[in-house]
Amino acid sequence: MTNTAPILQHKQALLRRALILVLTGLSALAGEGSAQAADPHRTRREEMVTTQLIDRGITHQPTLEAFSRVPRHRFVRQEHLQRAYDDRPLPIGHGQTISQPYIVALMTELIEPEPGHRILEIGTGSGYQAAILAEITDHVYTIEIVEALAEWGAGNLRNAGYHQVKTARGDGYYGWDEAAPFDSIVVTAAAASIPPPLLSQLAPGGTMIIPVGSPFRTQVLTLVHREGEAFRTEQILPVRFVPFVRPE
Ligand code: SAH
Repeated sequence: MTNTAPILQHKQALLRRALILVLTGLSALAGEGSAQAADPHRTRREEMVTTQLIDRGITHQPTLEAFSRVPRHRFVRQEHLQRAYDDRPLPIGHGQTISQPYIVALMTELIEPEPGHRILEIGTGSGYQAAILAEITDHVYTIEIVEALAEWGAGNLRNAGYHQVKTARGDGYYGWDEAAPFDSIVVTAAAASIPPPLLSQLAPGGTMIIPVGSPFRTQVLTLVHREGEAFRTEQILPVRFVPFVRPE
């Protein structure tokens, strides 16, 4: 009788080793895959922060950190998913747009948000600007006039985990009196003039950023500082925003 045991043992050892190799390979792949599955857009987001924000002079650290964290691709329409991190605004339906990343960053940097600040946004749209602010402070309020967008934006915020943001549907002209005063107000639609209720809901020392000018033309991004009872305005740069609308 020939002794086959050593050969068998050898074969089994080879099989075991092959199995271990396959399993290690699989788990390495799975590891890589799960990190990517968690956030396949991370590389594009990092590129956006470097080339669109830092290279153009955005320096406010909390703003830059917020941009590296907020998944912008979760705030665009499905058909624009591949363009989520492009250097441009994108249509979000109902004739509205999610602003270009640089403009959102500039508006955020100019109001110098800090943890603990109370911030009101007019024009929720996709919810992206509110999410950026919510990375910096837990007290973000946002109002949207178009019902379908109010629902979609609030849904985007919830789905991305920004449960602390307070959302409302209504005419932002009147601000959010019960939650005032605000350290900052961010208006993301262009108004012909600054709505007086918004000025009065600004805390002393507070700031407002608002595109001022006629709809469908170039407007001026304006930074308002409340100094006691007085207001000082600073013109920042020409911009193009969708119009601030009023109910008929
Ligand atoms: N901040 C948004 C940008 C949306 S565009 C984002 O990050 O995606 C501006 C939004 O302002 C539009 O959704 C528009 O419907 C809304 N809007 C216009 N007039 C308004 C008003 N009077 N009150 C509240 N929202 C208004």
